[in-house]
Amino acid sequence: MLVFISPEPDMSRVHIPDALRLEVAKLAGFRCEYCRRPEADSFIKYQIDHIISLKHKGATILSNLAYACPICNANKGSDIGSILEDEDIFIRLFHPRKHDWFEHFEVVEGAIHPKTDIAAVTIKILDLNNISRILERLDLIKAGIFP
Ligand SMILES: [Zn+2]
Repeated sequence: MLVFISPEPDMSRVHIPDALRLEVAKLAGFRCEYCRRPEADSFIKYQIDHIISLKHKGATILSNLAYACPICNANKGSDIGSILEDEDIFIRLFHPRKHDWFEHFEVVEGAIHPKTDIAAVTIKILDLNNISRILERLDLIKAGIFP
């Protein structure tokens, strides 16, 4: 297996073996593990996210990989956390392999609401409540495939 890691890590340059990709997708139930949008509803192939990014020396192993829609993956980038307004405390992002989505988030009329600070920074950084995403989610709820 050839793995090329550049000084500015770029997911498109990291080879994820097909078997590992499939294992991550199955674990995720073929949904984005951040916004929970089902891949079957999307016209774009979902991506493998390094939960702890390559920039932060995260490994390409199952326990550090998540299934992510292209929007969540692009918004997350190499981030691993953030701070909330008026606070100086660093809060890590939601970790799909360690955290339970429903313990951290709840859906209210299409918007994803935080139950924890981890959820709050994840919603902020991944822009989970962008109006177009809320509208899409309302359609998914109507179709009975969300959350
Ligand atoms: Zn997503």
